[in-house]
Amino acid sequence: MEQIDDRQIKEDDRHYVLHAWSKQKDVQPKIIKKADGIFFWDDSDKKYYDMCSQLVYLNVGHNHPKLMEEFRHIGEIPLASPGFATASKAELARKIIEVAPKNMAKVFFANGGADSNDHAVKIARMVTGRYKIFSRYRSYHGATFGAGNLSGENRRFTVEPGLPGFIKFETPYLYREKVKFENEEAAAAFYLDRLNSQILYEGPDSIAAIFMETIPGSNGVLIPPKGYMEGVRELCTKYGILMICDEVMSGFGRTGKMFAVDHFDLEPDIMTFAKGVTCGYSPLGGVIVSEEVAKYFDDHVLMTGLTYSGHTVSTQIGCATLDIYKDEDLIEHAAEMGKVLAARLEQLREFASVGDVRHIGLFAAVELVKNKQTKEPIISYGMDYGKDAVGLMKKFVGLLMEQGFYTYSHESSVMVAPPLIITEQQINEAMDLFEHALMKFEREDLF
Ligand code: PLP
Repeated sequence: MEQIDDRQIKEDDRHYVLHAWSKQKDVQPKIIKKADGIFFWDDSDKKYYDMCSQLVYLNVGHNHPKLMEEFRHIGEIPLASPGFATASKAELARKIIEVAPKNMAKVFFANGGADSNDHAVKIARMVTGRYKIFSRYRSYHGATFGAGNLSGENRRFTVEPGLPGFIKFETPYLYREKVKFENEEAAAAFYLDRLNSQILYEGPDSIAAIFMETIPGSNGVLIPPKGYMEGVRELCTKYGILMICDEVMSGFGRTGKMFAVDHFDLEPDIMTFAKGVTCGYSPLGGVIVSEEVAKYFDDHVLMTGLTYSGHTVSTQIGCATLDIYKDEDLIEHAAEMGKVLAARLEQLREFASVGDVRHIGLFAAVELVKNKQTKEPIISYGMDYGKDAVGLMKKFVGLLMEQGFYTYSHESSVMVAPPLIITEQQINEAMDLFEHALMKFEREDLF
């Protein structure tokens, strides 16, 4: 590649690159000049704690030596189209099945999260012969046309009026639920009853799948109440509906277990994954199917495919990534560090602008409010479609950046999801920065 200076990079970027989810005139990207572990440095040599693992994918951190070494071996396995068997594709599929729930049997490889979800929908329709797909409000499943229709927040408005047969139901969101429950089990029963009635009114025989982020991530790490996920499983089994868990963000150790479903007493029929399988060192995603679903395709054609399904380079990087999780005990480490992060997050409840904190492993969100008593959100959803009309959240994220705490927000929630390699000391340092930003936010009466 030709060597060009930073000024030229930014100029070319402004002229030639279209940036996602943005008005192009507002885009002012920095350049990451150097990165290592949980840190990166921008083009003015400012150092940041990468507290959202870029887009919650860099589980092993930046510049991991074993992955950098693996890149030296790229090219040793010849490129091959999906019809061929390759060492890296076969090995990665086996490795994924070894760590997936017991009933899981086979993997279809895709390019990233959204197209994995598209394929899961197609697979569910083929297997059941039904067409309706249930998914939830307050979910994000990707930006392709299919995944966009699955998503239950404002990013899906770009695919409206949308495809027939995509039905939405509510995600349990106890912090903002008007009904007050005695305990989590009562909350679960309430939401399950509503889901059951929606299934009946839609007609169970027409519903192919219930599609859920196991733990919704970018919509604010909404952890389901006790018994809810198992209840959805029961409803799926009762009505012959496939249960599909989107583990694109929550998978590969993010929650302190290999997959978020491992926190619950259930086995889904289908799971989708991306991000953490290669930690973004090369794009890859996929669909994991149960023994039963896999069997269906013994005698039926799997009517789908992608040029790069099981891409040699990405699956090679995927194999090396899965070795790192194992060799470095990263999942156990994430669970341990999750406790350290949880303690710091719980302390944030003292702040006037913090309404709620939600966390599981190294997957967390801090929800900001204008008023703690009324729970008035920083950004009111619905009226302005989640847009930050007053710019309060933008200011807070700006304060975090100023402190060197890099992350992003969605509606009123700020993501905290550092690389799983983070240490106790680094968590404390980063959370000190978060507190400084909150103090400034409140002191300057910005909210
Ligand atoms: N599913 C979930 C839960 C996600 O968080 C995302 C992206 O953030 C996607 C799917 C889409 O993945 P991709 O951007 O790789 O298409």
